[in-house]
Amino acid sequence: MMGSSVPSIGQVWRGLRDQLTAVGVPTAALDARLLVRSVLDLDTTGLVASEMDPFPGSKTRDLQALAARRLAGEPVARIRGVQEFYGLEFGLNAATLIPRPETEMLVDFGLARLRARPAPAILDLGTGTGCIVLSLLANIASARGVGIDISTEALEQARDNAGALGLGARFEARQGSWFSALGDERFDFIVSNPPYIASATIETLDPGVKTFDPMAALDGGADGLDPYRIIAAQARDHLVPGGALALEIGFDQGHMVNELLSSAGFCDIAIARDLAGHDRMVTASAPK
Ligand code: GLN
Repeated sequence: MMGSSVPSIGQVWRGLRDQLTAVGVPTAALDARLLVRSVLDLDTTGLVASEMDPFPGSKTRDLQALAARRLAGEPVARIRGVQEFYGLEFGLNAATLIPRPETEMLVDFGLARLRARPAPAILDLGTGTGCIVLSLLANIASARGVGIDISTEALEQARDNAGALGLGARFEARQGSWFSALGDERFDFIVSNPPYIASATIETLDPGVKTFDPMAALDGGADGLDPYRIIAAQARDHLVPGGALALEIGFDQGHMVNELLSSAGFCDIAIARDLAGHDRMVTASAPK
């Protein structure tokens, strides 16, 4: 029997886990550990090592505040303000999407296409946290990248992330709407995870997404394809001959995006599935 009235750190995280489970959070145990770790500033092993220590009373209110946000449906990444992507840590703010694991396939494709190119130039349209372009820069030492976003707040975050990852010298964050932020520059690889949800469908999204992700990062216009129309029409003017394009898509958009790219004269168009088996990425090459 536990004699002490002060709960241990282990008891506190398990208590929070049970509260989250009761409201139907599927990742209750993980989320409870992450929130307790962030309040106590502990890493994974630190939490395990201090399971039996008393939970510091001075931190109770902090934890309660974070727990209330999670119980109200806010994603744990947004509460903590960080998300891991491609093995790197990315800071978030209100103007950026939480990086998603399925988006890592765009990085895989870029790495495969760019490894053989000397000093490749990369363009990330709608860069948000910068997670795509910065993961590429982190893995290709000679690469440099431009991240464009309409939101200056998102660009500040992307710049901070570049700095924190030691990539600031090879990354440029530029404000603007799609290609309008560019001169006549050309790139070896253009990548984008654009907003691709049809406006009318946004209501049906998971509450954690609908309520807490920035609308501008989700809404792709009436049919969700507006950004792909702009990209298909203009990307070739900004790719070197034979340059590569990779676009994240919604599960039912592969056919339409394929058509837009083939009408625009792209070659080698391919649709790739994510680990859940959904169409998730369209890739293509500019003519040589
Ligand atoms: N490129 C960022 C990401 O993949 C932002 C995407 C977006 O805001 N639609 O997370």
